[in-house]
Formats: sequence, structure tokens, C-alpha cells
Amino acid sequence: MKRVAIAGSTGSIGKQTLEVISASKLGDYEVVAISANASVAEIIAQARIFKPKLVVITDESARINVARELLITDPKIEVSGDSAQMSDIADVVVNGVVGFAGLSVTIATLKAGKRLALANKESLIAAGPVVAPLRKIAGAEIVPVDSEHCAIHQCLRSSDNSSREVAKLLLTASGGPFRGRTRKSLENVTIKDALKHPTWSMGPKITVDSSTLMNKGLEVIEAHELFGLDYASIDVVVHPQSIVHSMVEFRDGATIAQLSLPDMRLPIAYALEYPQRSTVGFGAIDWTKLSRLDFELPDRDTFRCLDLAYAAGRVGGTAPAWLSAANEIAVEAFLAGAVQWSQIPTIIEATMQHHDGLMPIEVEDILEADKVARRWARDIVRKEVVS
Ligand code: MG
Repeated sequence: MKRVAIAGSTGSIGKQTLEVISASKLGDYEVVAISANASVAEIIAQARIFKPKLVVITDESARINVARELLITDPKIEVSGDSAQMSDIADVVVNGVVGFAGLSVTIATLKAGKRLALANKESLIAAGPVVAPLRKIAGAEIVPVDSEHCAIHQCLRSSDNSSREVAKLLLTASGGPFRGRTRKSLENVTIKDALKHPTWSMGPKITVDSSTLMNKGLEVIEAHELFGLDYASIDVVVHPQSIVHSMVEFRDGATIAQLSLPDMRLPIAYALEYPQRSTVGFGAIDWTKLSRLDFELPDRDTFRCLDLAYAAGRVGGTAPAWLSAANEIAVEAFLAGAVQWSQIPTIIEATMQHHDGLMPIEVEDILEADKVARRWARDIVRKEVVS
């Protein structure tokens, strides 16, 4: 029986992980820990169904409420505020926390020498230089849950010597809800428009990131960190059907791709079961219905976030942390109705102008970089709102 901890269990990835576990054979998995920031009612409901040993709530007043409720119905469940405790009792930790807040779970899991099923891309992107050495700890391993990276992880298994044989990674992008639109026509798009993803159903932050192509930009950095290829060997291809989840081109000319319907439960099950394949299927293609697969180059002029991400990735150090922080602030401001969608890249670009070029050595450096970048980004948002 595999013991699974789910950080961010009330979010989109967390809920789908619980679906995978519910669909699996009884006795395959035990949910030992779940965590959320402040979704009191939801996590109590999950705790009552899955009976974990530990429930982690980061928000203090929410934690008091959860503890009070569970004490009545499930007094054996420990309620805590420390997500690092999760990896001590689990074999696999699914990190489905949204945004930079997921970093502590990533670090704690690798330090504990456990498998990290990683859906939180920000922690790896922002803290790449700090996370990289932790992957050498015995037992520590990252199996990506992000669909593109999970696809690449699968494609690379067709190679015996990937550092010699791989020519390039091809990350596919759906293109988001605004694919094919001009810069001019995107000036006044609404929050609702940006949240209408054509193929994937995800949380609001990542859906906005897909609409700007920042999601793909962050994934380029994530791919660089995960697989160690330089930026010249990582390309982005727009593929509107979201059936091909990414590809690896090998030096001998062969391209290996992973295909399935867009369903996050497949990469989640893959990350739980690796190196075996899950026997519970999600996203299998119905070939009587699939008629075509299209590919096109991204419109880098309209979707400027993609190149902003490449630039930050190439600078390295704390630049990706700055990029990710600036993006979070810009997207927050957009979702709050404070700025326009078209101002998101402007805010990020203006923030990056202040990047101090510091090289991160420890977690504190990343936290500091994140804090400074956010301060600049908020400042810039304020000016953008006024103007
Ligand atoms: Mg993805």
C-alpha cells in the first residue's frame, strides 16, 4: 500500500488526485495527509471520507475551526500548521499547491528523501538553483505531474542515454482562449474571457497564465530545470487540440510523443505509480472521434510573456523567481479587476527591469527575491491603475 500525502488537496490537482485514488483498487493507496490554506468546509469533508492521519491548514484561524470540527467526529486525526510533517509519513507527496506557496512542500519532500509528484511549477521555477542539489538526496525524486513534463518524462524512457541522444524538447501549448487573436483585439478582454480555456479545466491562476502563454513560458523554465537541457534545445509548438502533450526529438531524427485526451488524472496516476504504469485508465483516445492534429508556431509578438520567460530563464539565478512573482501579482491584479489583461506582460517586463542579478544560494535568498520582486510588481501595478 502506497502512502500518499496531498498538499493543496482542495485545489484542482488535489481533488483529481483523490479521484484517482478513489478509482484505484482498494488497498493500493492510503491517503495519510491532506493540506489546504483555508478551505475549511472542503477539507473537513475530505478528512471525513479519506480518514488521513494528518490534516495541515496553513491559515491559523481556519486551522482552529478545522481542529474544533474534527475533534468531534474524528478525534484521531491530527491537525497541524506545518506542511513539512506530511512527507515524514508518506511515500509520495503530491504537491498541488498553487503558486509560490508550494515551495516549502517541495523542499520538505526532497529533504525527507521521498518522491515528489510535482504539479506546483512555481516552486521549481523560482527555486530551481536551491531545489537542484536536493534531488541528489537518497530516495528523493521528482516525477512531474504537469502534463507536458509528464509527457516528456514518458518520451525520454525510449532512450538509453538521453544526454547523448536528445536533440530537443518540444513543449506543446493549446494556445489558450485567445489563440489567433491580434494584440489590438485583446485590449479589452474580460476576466470571463480569459477564464474560458478551450481544452483544459484548471484553476483560475493557471488558466489566466495559459491565456497569456506565461504558463508555457514557466513550463519552458520548468523543463530546463527538470531535464537539464539548455534553452536553445527547448521549443514551444502550439497544438490547439491538446492531444499531443509534448514531444522529444532525438538526434537520429525520431520524434516520440505522448498522446491522450486532456485529463490531469493520467499524469497524476503516472506520478503515483511510476516506474510502473497505472492500471486505472484516464484520457484514452477514441480514434473514431479524433480526426486531426494541428500544429503552428506561437505568436510571440501578441503573447509577449513567452519571450519574457525565455529571457528570465537564460539570465538564471533569481530571475525566474522574479518573473514568477511579478506574474502572480499581475494576474492577481487582473483577476481583481484592477488592470487589463494586456497590462500583464507590461507589469512583468517593468518589474524585471529592477532585477538585481543576485544568485540564490539558499531558500532565504529565494524568499527575499520573491519579496523584493513582489514589492516592485505591486508598485508598478499601482502606477498602471492610476495611468
Ligand atoms: Mg502544463
